[in-house]
Amino acid sequence: MTTNTMNGASNASENSSSSGVRGRRRVLIIGAGKCSVGSTGLALAQGLKKAGIPFLIFEKEEEIPARERSWSMGLHWGFEPLQHLMPTEILTQIKQAQVDPHVPTKDSDRLPLINGETGALITEIKSSKLYRVRRDKFRALLLQGLDVQWGKILSDIVYSPAGERVTAKFTDGSEVICSMLIATDGAHSMTRSLLVGEKAARVTPIDFASTMCFTQHTREHALFLRAQPHHPLYQVATHPNGYCAWLSLLDGDDIDHPENWVFFHYISFPELRDHVNMRTTREHAAHQKELARQFVDPWRSVFEWMPEDSKVLYSKLRNWDPSLPEHKWDNRQGRVTLAGDAAHPMTFQRGQGLNHAMKDAYTACKTIESFWNHGDFTIEQRAAAIQAYEEEMIARAGEEVRLSEENSVMVHNWANLMQSPVIIKGMKVESQDA
Ligand SMILES: Cc1cc2nc3c(=O)[nH]c(=O)nc-3n(C[C@H](O)[C@H](O)[C@H](O)COP(=O)(O)OP(=O)(O)OC[C@H]3O[C@@H](n4cnc5c(N)ncnc54)[C@H](O)[C@@H]3O)c2cc1C
Repeated sequence: MTTNTMNGASNASENSSSSGVRGRRRVLIIGAGKCSVGSTGLALAQGLKKAGIPFLIFEKEEEIPARERSWSMGLHWGFEPLQHLMPTEILTQIKQAQVDPHVPTKDSDRLPLINGETGALITEIKSSKLYRVRRDKFRALLLQGLDVQWGKILSDIVYSPAGERVTAKFTDGSEVICSMLIATDGAHSMTRSLLVGEKAARVTPIDFASTMCFTQHTREHALFLRAQPHHPLYQVATHPNGYCAWLSLLDGDDIDHPENWVFFHYISFPELRDHVNMRTTREHAAHQKELARQFVDPWRSVFEWMPEDSKVLYSKLRNWDPSLPEHKWDNRQGRVTLAGDAAHPMTFQRGQGLNHAMKDAYTACKTIESFWNHGDFTIEQRAAAIQAYEEEMIARAGEEVRLSEENSVMVHNWANLMQSPVIIKGMKVESQDA
């Protein structure tokens, strides 16, 4: 068995409780974050640490290199639940985790939606206060003060017969016993496969794909890309031919040297769900350049200026709805559950995945706090609490998975676009604030 450093309160000794769950009274979190991801597990860990609940956190990747590929995410209504989990002195650094720390964060924001063929502004989608965070910087923020066990790949979960404990097994042969395991291991979650079976756990592709591009430019070109009239950080365009394009700043840290700025952009396009990708990276880049010729600036130019051998990232749009009957899992008396993308991977155009992940982390943390009682709880208390956590999370995030898919389809369908939930509702989810 592996020896591990415990986060949070001191370790409880084995068999010290007389009222139910005995020994190894700690929470295990799987999925802490590689090169800039893993926000759900880290946010939950911060909350448990604040609450004094002992936990261990494992991540399959080795400890992060100094600089890795990243992309930007809009944290809006998910900031509220995050506030309850994080120490204030760490969270106040969030401004520095944004793509450009020099641009002030306003109390409310807007996303300009542009006609990609003409450049006309279609609408401005309103949102609440929005932090446009860079994933690697955001992750580094959440990681502060946590002790992560790196390079540990979960491979199996075993349950004790009496319903008290759960054992996580790792590919290196080590094992860890705990009172419960929360899997935050992402869209292709191993834990989800163990819970519902490999076939049912598979993400469902939809009829669209995108290719993410990351570029740096000359000073003159970079200044041109930033000088767009509608927003200093990001804009989205929909094209009557059925495409959706995004352009945002990814790294504006070096305010005086535009040639060091990094831009993140993609054009998503129709592609049948059962299409088998045969393109090479170079061909994906060429495909993006070809699509961009149908667009006005800044998309036309940012893709034209992109080197042909850029390391672009092709990605099929896909999701997994936790509320489908065939996706129902047995949480083994509250010993194992899912959160974040592991529970509800969704398409990204509506910008909701991270926000729901923060809400999951908050709700899971409060749920554990509700029965933990210094680790002295019964199996029934844990089972009832985790059941309630799952009911709320599955209903909320399941609806979002469906809304996000609907939205992804609509932004590629000019005729139906004006009915899109993102236009009607904006990006704030009023009823879901913590
Ligand atoms: C292009 C793009 C733009 C987006 N924009 C937005 C946005 O604007 N707003 C928004 O709210 N959301 C956005 N999202 C969604 C958001 O990025 C995700 O919902 C969020 O990052 C999910 O975090 P997570 O921690 O649940 O999963 P992940 O970030 O995937 O982390 C899972 C971690 O688990 C680890 N792991 C996996 N398997 C194992 C194993 N067997 N053992 C141990 N560890 C394991 C992985 O290495 C990883 O570190 C966007 C997504 C994309 C792709």
